[in-house]
Amino acid sequence: MTGSPATMNAAVYRRPGEVDIVSLPRPDSVTNALIAVEYCGICGTDLHMMLDGWGTPDAVFGHEWSGRIVEPGATGLDPGTLVVGLPSPVCGTCDLCRAGRTSLCQNRPEAGTAVERGAFAEYVGVPGDRLVVVPPGIEARAAAYTEPLAVALHAVTLSGIADDQSALVTGAGPIGAAIIAILTARGIHTIAVEPGEGRAALATRLGASVRAVGDLEVTAHPGEPVAEAVPVMFETSGARSAIEMGLTQLSPGGIQVLVGTGLDYPKLDTNRIILNELRVTGAFNYDAAGFDDALALIGSGSFPIDELIDADAVPLDHLLPTMQRLRAGEIPGKAMVRP
Ligand SMILES: [Zn+2]
Ligand SMILES: [Zn+2]
Repeated sequence: MTGSPATMNAAVYRRPGEVDIVSLPRPDSVTNALIAVEYCGICGTDLHMMLDGWGTPDAVFGHEWSGRIVEPGATGLDPGTLVVGLPSPVCGTCDLCRAGRTSLCQNRPEAGTAVERGAFAEYVGVPGDRLVVVPPGIEARAAAYTEPLAVALHAVTLSGIADDQSALVTGAGPIGAAIIAILTARGIHTIAVEPGEGRAALATRLGASVRAVGDLEVTAHPGEPVAEAVPVMFETSGARSAIEMGLTQLSPGGIQVLVGTGLDYPKLDTNRIILNELRVTGAFNYDAAGFDDALALIGSGSFPIDELIDADAVPLDHLLPTMQRLRAGEIPGKAMVRP
């Protein structure tokens, strides 16, 4: 910690690929709890916001964090309590919230529009209804993995996959790797397509059979499924080619779950969708109980959390170069910042 007690260091996004480490006032703790950030994971969304320019300038990103209560504010939590934060505020009262589909809350702010005050900073200020207390036995580093794991769990929920089915996962970045780990834990066989060497090796360690794109069968007629067709595929790369190719690997009645975002939109083979009654769905954020489910999985002791998180946490001033290495696919696991 540097500076006077009332300030903190934070990584402020300026313009695509430009971040300043500056001293900002600490968040107030009147209603919000003041929390010292322990770890904050770097998300694919953060890359879009800060490298691709989707973010609002002068924001502080970072939503995959764990931290300890310093000043409880109105939350009533004891100082020192380890917590994780729900990054997306939801109203809890709209039709979709009441149906348990909180990721579709009709009163949520549009992604990327607010000037966020996230956890690529020494402290965050968060209201009590957006905090989840970490159960005993889970370390701060593993706890910071709660949000991406909840995202992956939501995609698996939406797929409706059964334990005796198999799946294809395109992209083995942090979300793809988490999905593979979840499926392996359920005894579900996964085929992974991942061109990066490090990530492909991680997918293998997590239990997937890795295939090169060129090894996948292509059928000439859109009504004809491939020999090794799968009922479920998870697309986590956001790459147009992966979305288009993934659809061709589905068995009749299959479902494609889109998790990776991108701006190079695919050309959908609608004839294949019709002839095979395929479904395509997006998966955004998490189930209403997503954080509790993720923490239960992390705390189970049988989940390969050390494979999924990169061994070296980086300081704030390494955030940008680490993001560039993530973009280049040089870091297979979830990269963590330790502000
Ligand atoms: Zn995230
Ligand atoms: Zn709502």
